[in-house]
Order: sequence, then structure tokens, then C-alpha cells
Amino acid sequence: MQNINKNNFLFDDISSLKGVGPKIKKYLKNKKIEKIKDLLWDLPNQIIDRSKISNLKQLEIGKMMTIKVTVSKYSFPRIMNLPNKVICTDGDKKINIIFFNSREGYIRKVLPIKNEVVISGKINYYKKNYQIINPTYIAPIEKKDDVAKIFPRYSLTEGLTEKIYRKLIDSVLNKIEDDEDWYSDEFVKKNKFRKLKDVLLNLHNPKKEIDIQSNDYRRLVYDEIISNLITLLSARRVVKIKKKKRKIVNNKFKNIILKNFSFNLTENQNNILNDIDKDIQSDNRMFRLLQGDVGSGKTILALISAAAVIESGYQVGFMSPTEILSDQHYKLAKKLFFSTNINIELLTGKTNTKEKKELSLKLKRGKINLIFGTHSLFQKKIEFHKLGLVIIDEQHKFGVKQRLELAKKGGANCDILVMSATPIPRTMMLSIFGDMDVSRLKEKPKNRKNIITLAKPEDKISELWPLLKKQISINNQVFWVCPLIEKSNKLDCSSAKNKFDLIKKIFPGKVGLIHGALEQKNKNEVLNKFLKNEIKILVSTTVIEVGIDFPNANVMIIENANKFGLSQLHQLRGRVGRGKNESICILLYKKNLSINSKKRLKILKSTNDGFLIADEDLKMRGHGDLLGLQQSGIKNFKFADPLQHKSLFLLAEKNIKKIDKNNLKKFENLLKLHDRSGIVSEIVN
Ligand code: ADP
Ligand code: MG
Repeated sequence: MQNINKNNFLFDDISSLKGVGPKIKKYLKNKKIEKIKDLLWDLPNQIIDRSKISNLKQLEIGKMMTIKVTVSKYSFPRIMNLPNKVICTDGDKKINIIFFNSREGYIRKVLPIKNEVVISGKINYYKKNYQIINPTYIAPIEKKDDVAKIFPRYSLTEGLTEKIYRKLIDSVLNKIEDDEDWYSDEFVKKNKFRKLKDVLLNLHNPKKEIDIQSNDYRRLVYDEIISNLITLLSARRVVKIKKKKRKIVNNKFKNIILKNFSFNLTENQNNILNDIDKDIQSDNRMFRLLQGDVGSGKTILALISAAAVIESGYQVGFMSPTEILSDQHYKLAKKLFFSTNINIELLTGKTNTKEKKELSLKLKRGKINLIFGTHSLFQKKIEFHKLGLVIIDEQHKFGVKQRLELAKKGGANCDILVMSATPIPRTMMLSIFGDMDVSRLKEKPKNRKNIITLAKPEDKISELWPLLKKQISINNQVFWVCPLIEKSNKLDCSSAKNKFDLIKKIFPGKVGLIHGALEQKNKNEVLNKFLKNEIKILVSTTVIEVGIDFPNANVMIIENANKFGLSQLHQLRGRVGRGKNESICILLYKKNLSINSKKRLKILKSTNDGFLIADEDLKMRGHGDLLGLQQSGIKNFKFADPLQHKSLFLLAEKNIKKIDKNNLKKFENLLKLHDRSGIVSEIVN
């Protein structure tokens, strides 16, 4: 498919396909299908096997089956709400075919008396009779081969029928022309990859459930990984190629900050600072990811780096995902930079228009050295005088595209430091952050007290009250996390609202409630009260960002702990254990835990190492269930699974080195097929 002219139609709008009018277009859009090629990536998720024709002795209730019968008798009750019925037989047994909402005329036509027919549908049993309600297929015996087939099924949204959808898919598959591969013949042969056209034809017409280890599926996976790597590495090349002005640093501010910081940096922290220092002073732009567990002490490193950049005459923008986090960082910086003449400001969505104008003006004139804020920092209207470093904190929702936009906006002399607490399994590191250099903060600050982790069955909840009472009496604070906001009839999990009502009775005036359904304003109010220690127990769902520092909170209680993934539990636990006091995390669970749940709780009790937990987490999850990553906003691959396709990830990492600007052209269509070409062409040009 390399020749762009042959299969160019794939990149056309879906409405250029015959049969797609405005209505269908809208339905397809709900499935995120907008261009013709998008249809190709939506593989069937189920197989309906109608290939076997059963006789009535073999019926199984609840199963989709195909039967061969003779029509023997009609019953058309002509009473409202009573269905029409057709009794059929195979000479031995009987079955009733029931029609709701079908007219007599239609029924007589498709099921003529005494004729032999093939019927497919779900088998029910009602008042001692087998029946099929509203059969999915009926055909005269001569056409039995049309019914008796294996059907792939797609997950369809409202308004789309199987028939229409199938037609669209087939029309596209038939139109694709065979073409030269983007891989060499040798490579294709060695890996038993077939041509993409054949692969797609096969995967859309499966004879059995899709096997994610089949050669055809693996080809899609490899294509996906490679297109992703090309994008990231092109981005990297571009950022690195352009030279920037060296920044000159003599560590005056760094020493002041460290004097105001009451701890010594760890060796790990110092080493990372050295890396960053080198980047800042080199004539290559810094494009670095600082990855470290929650509470590992990334912020102080970011602030010291900011100081260095400011020292060399540049401005620094520090972006966080929420106002509270921005505010917290802002206050910390004020404290640490107290005895310097560095001018520090805060700009968030809350800043009013007048203040915003003033801040912008000051920024433009270079009167502000360091500014904190949310996304609002990088609006079009905001101009910097001489931006030298952008720091992005807890930036899970940032993809390569956003990172590049930021680099562009920062200008030629701007370094970029991204911080993330999401532990990424090693196999995925290059595929997610391959455009950046990576520093890993593995060591926790030494003064950090261990977090004692216990698991308790939830019927022992009353044993917690004395513990909480004691902690509150010595001025400590408690997080109490529930999986649900409100009680649900479907899920047997505890809800934050219910728990709030209960705990409020035991600790009146000391409890706050926060969950995702609250307005941001109210959320902030509650969080601020908790920060100021005006409330002692905060009952919540998982809404609270992991980045906020609550040094005073040292008890974390997680209900229905078995409902959360390992990494998520670890992140929740990381909200405590940041202060001077010993911390405790209690995992409450319902009795009769599954083996996997037991294992998860055990791992959590045994270690506090986020990277280790991330790897364990990955090992325990099945295909398509990388919940931790999904929740943190890192987009999962459509086909590739880091655990199941590890060897392909490694193969791609090896081969990507052979792809450079000179042979990139060969991959043009691959990139287009995976929506990557826009990004790459922007980078390369
Ligand atoms: P995160 O990596 O999650 O952003 P923070 O930077 O918020 O972590 O650090 C968590 C806490 O640890 C802060 O209160 C910070 O002051 C403290 N901290 C950071 N570095 C050290 C250190 N070397 N020694 C002791 N405490 C530290
Ligand atoms: Mg942080």
C-alpha cells in the first residue's frame, strides 16, 4: 500500500463511501469513524457461529442456534400485545417461533405452511415448549447456505445495523489494491507477516475468535508500534537538531534555595540535578522527562532547575494540571526563594481579567521571572519576554503532539522538563516517551518514615474508630477513600456519601466530603479546609490529584481495596507518608477475596516501590486491561499490548534505528493510516 495514489481513497471522509449519508455518518462518528481507513481498525469483537444446523433434540436453552424445520401451524391471536406464533417441527419434536411486532402477511411469506426452512436465533424455553423469539435469520431450505455461516460481529452503536456495517467494511476491503509493503521482503518473510490487505481481509472475516498472537494480528501490532516510534523519534530528532543559546549558571540561587530547604538532597536527586544542569548549559535543547514515584521529591528538583535558568537571565513557566497544585507550588517557591529578588507570580483560571492583563504585561516586559499556573499559562494571549524553561508537572494527559506544541511555543532557547508520577512499564517507555531523555527518581528521601500497610476485612471497621480518635487527638489527618460516590444497586461497593454520613456521626464537625460530581469551586473549598487542618477526615472517591502534598495526613483508609488496581492503590497510598510522622494505610476488603485480589493486597503490603509495583501490576493484568495507564490518561494502543507483545516492542525498538529521514518516505502511508502523518510532517518540515 505504499503507492499513495492507489489507496488514497482510504484517507477520504467516510461520507464519500457509497451508502453513507448524513445519518449513517453521524452514527459512525459516534464510533470515532470519520475517515474511510478508520473502518479498518475496528475489528469484529465476537463471532457468531451459525455454521452448524442442529435438530430439535439438540437444543440448548440460551444459545444461538440454527435449526432446519417444517412450518406446521399458525396462531395469530389478533389481540393487542399477544405475539403471533408459528409452530414448526422436525418430524419428531416441536418448536414455537414467536413474533412480536411482525405482521401476519410477512410471517406467511417467510414461513409458508408445509415448507422446509432454516431458522436462526436464540433458544428459549417457555411453558414447557422450546421457542425462538424474533429470529435473526429465516431462509427457505434452498438458501440454507446463506444462513449457515460464521458471522463476525462488531460492537455497534445505536442506529447502525450489522448489515449496513458489514456492507461498508466489505466495500472498503474489496477496494483496497495490493501494493508494495513498507517493510522489506526479507523482513516480511522472516516474521511471517502477510500483506496488509490480506491481513485485514482475514481479520475482518475470522473463522474463529481473534487470536492476538496470530501472525496477522501481530502484523497490525507491529505496524502500530512502529508508526508510534517513528513519530516520537522524529520529534526527538527535531528538538535535538536545532541549537539553542547556552545558559550560564553559577548556582547562587541554588544554594539559597537549599539553605531554605530543611533537608539534604538524596544522591539520586543530586545526580538528576547534574543531568538537568548539563542540559541547561549545553547548546542542545533539553527535552527531559523526570519520572518518579509520588512523594519522591521531584518538585524541589524542578524549582532548583528553575533557579538556574532564571540566574542565566531567562523566565520560567511552571504548569500544573489544577489550581490547587499550582497554588501549592507557588507557595513553596515563595518560601524557598524568600531571600532572593526573584519575582514570582501565579496565574490560574481564577485570576480575574484585570489581574490577568497586568500579569501578561509584566511577563511580556520581563518583570516576572517565575510564573506558576494551569493550562492558562500557555494561552495565545500570554507572551513571555525571554522564556528559558517550561516545567510541566503531573502531565499525564500530555501526548507527543502537545509536548511539541509547547516546545514550539517556548521558542528556540526554551528547555522543557516534564514530570510524571505514573510508573510506566519498561516495555512501554520508548513507545510513550521516546521523544525525551528520561531521568528516573527511584530513591525515596531518607527521612521518609515507612508506611505501614495493613489489610482488614470490612466487618472489623469499628476497630478503626479508636485508631482515628487517637490520630486526630495528636493533630494528624485521615484520608478515607471509597470506590463510589453514591450507593449503587448494581455494585456492591461502599459509597463516599454513605461513609461520610456515618463518620460524621462519630466525629461531628471534623469530616469533609469530596467527589467528582462536585463543582471545582466546592472541591477546592473542601481541599483547602483539609490543607489548613480545619477538617480532620476527608472522605473521598479517587478524585484527589496525587500531586498535592498534605504533609499532615498520615492515615489512608481504602475501602473495597480489591476493586482497585495495584498501581492505583499505590498512588492512593502515596498521599500519606510525606510528613514527619509514621503513616499507616489500611486496606479494607470484603471477605472471600479472589486469588488475584489476595495477591494484590499481599504485594502492596510487602513493598512501597512504585516501579516494582508497576511491573507486578502489568504481569497480573490481561490483554486490554491496562487500567492504571488508561486512568492516568496515557493512551493505550489499539492493538499492541505491552505484556502480550513484548517481543514486538523489542523488535520495533531495534529496527527503529534503521529508519531515518532518508527512508522515512516509505512509511508515509503507514503513518497516515495511524493518524501520525500530520505530526511527523510538521516535525520534519
Ligand atoms: P513528588 O515527587 O510527588 O512531586 P514532592 O516533590 O511533592 O514529591 O515531595 C514530597 C515531599 O518530600 C515534600 O514535602 C518535599 O519537601 C519532601 N522532600 C523532597 N526531597 C526531600 C529530601 N531529599 N529529603 C527529605 N524530604 C524531601
Ligand atoms: Mg509532585
